[in-house]
Formats: sequence, structure tokens, C-alpha cells
Amino acid sequence: MLNLVLFGAPGSGKGTQSEKIIDKYGLHHISTGEVLRKQIKEGTELGKIADSYISKGHLIPDDLMIDILRQELKGLPKGSKGVIFDGFPRTIPQAIELEHLLSENGESLTGVVGLEVPEEELVARMLKRGAETGRADDNMETILNRLKVYHNQTEPLKEHYQNKGSYIQIDGLGHVDNIFSSIAKEIDDRK
Ligand code: AMP
Repeated sequence: MLNLVLFGAPGSGKGTQSEKIIDKYGLHHISTGEVLRKQIKEGTELGKIADSYISKGHLIPDDLMIDILRQELKGLPKGSKGVIFDGFPRTIPQAIELEHLLSENGESLTGVVGLEVPEEELVARMLKRGAETGRADDNMETILNRLKVYHNQTEPLKEHYQNKGSYIQIDGLGHVDNIFSSIAKEIDDRK
């Protein structure tokens, strides 16, 4: 199986590139942000808890997030070609748990695709997305919190994966299709 983590700051293009990777490689998409937004929309208990963190730009606690991931992995279609993890892991404990969960199923991570985008561009993209889609956490105050949280809690994962030799650095600036070509080349090398 081809198991990829799509890694990067909020606004780095993880969702957009995930769609393209799924189209080309037929992978199953697990976006933890989308799972949470769906729960919020449906007004579930989990949605209410998630909203209290997301609206402030904070991360959902690891134990809750890991339970959600476990559930998502249970829903994996039989004979799946692999998974694209979009927005998970975001902390070192989540990364360690992901490795456990995969190895329990005789699987491992194929690679971690890191989309690297300068901060001003991240802010501009999220403000644009907020204006176009109405996504509630794409407002200036929450964006700045999300970036702070990213630097403090998520960015250390880059070194974690570099040390394991699984980090694939991708320049996330430029045309969507060109970025995707760079990603596809790296994936094809590892298939
Ligand atoms: P995203 O759509 O990936 O940008 O996620 C939106 C928000 O959902 C984040 O700002 C977090 O509040 C929450 N979230 C999504 N994935 C995770 C995760 N793996 N760990 C903790 N919080 C998460």
C-alpha cells in the first residue's frame, strides 16, 4: 500500500494536492479537519467539542484525535491501494500513534510530503479561502493562532520525519499543477 502523509502549515495546499493525488493514485483520503467540520455541521457532541478548539485555532487534544483516526482507519475500503493522511499527524504523539496503527496492520508510511510555503503567502491564501468559502477559522485572528500552533506543535514533526529519512520537501509556491508534478515524481520514485 502507498501510505502518504501530506504535511504543511495551514494554507499550504494540503487539501488541493490531496485531491490530485487521490485522482491519480486512487488512494483513500483521511482529512481530520474535514471529519471535524462535518461533525460541527451535524451538531454532534464531538462537533461541539471540536468547535471550541477549532474556532480558537487550537489543536484538538491528542487522545480524542487518535480515537478519531482509529475510527477512520476502520472505515478503510477492502483492497485499498493506500491512504493519504491530510492534516494528521499534527503532534509528535500523533505521529508515534500513526506508526503503531499502521504497523499493527503490517503497514508503514511510504513518505511524508512536506509542502513548504512562506508565511505571507499562507496568510493570503487563507484569507482568500475564508472570503470565498466562508470557512469559519479562516479569519485573521484565528489564522495567526493556527500559525503559532503550527510552529510550536506541528513543525517539530519535520525533523522527526527527516531523521527517519521519510520527509520529502516540496516547494509549495507556484502553479497547482507544477506543484503536483513535483509530488507525483517523488511518489513514482517510491512506488
Ligand atoms: P485543517 O482542515 O487540517 O486545517 O484542520 C482544521 C482544524 O481542525 C485545525 O486548526 C485543528 O483545530 C483541527 N484539527 C485537524 N486535524 C487535527 C489534528 N490532527 N490534531 C489536532 N487538531 C486537528
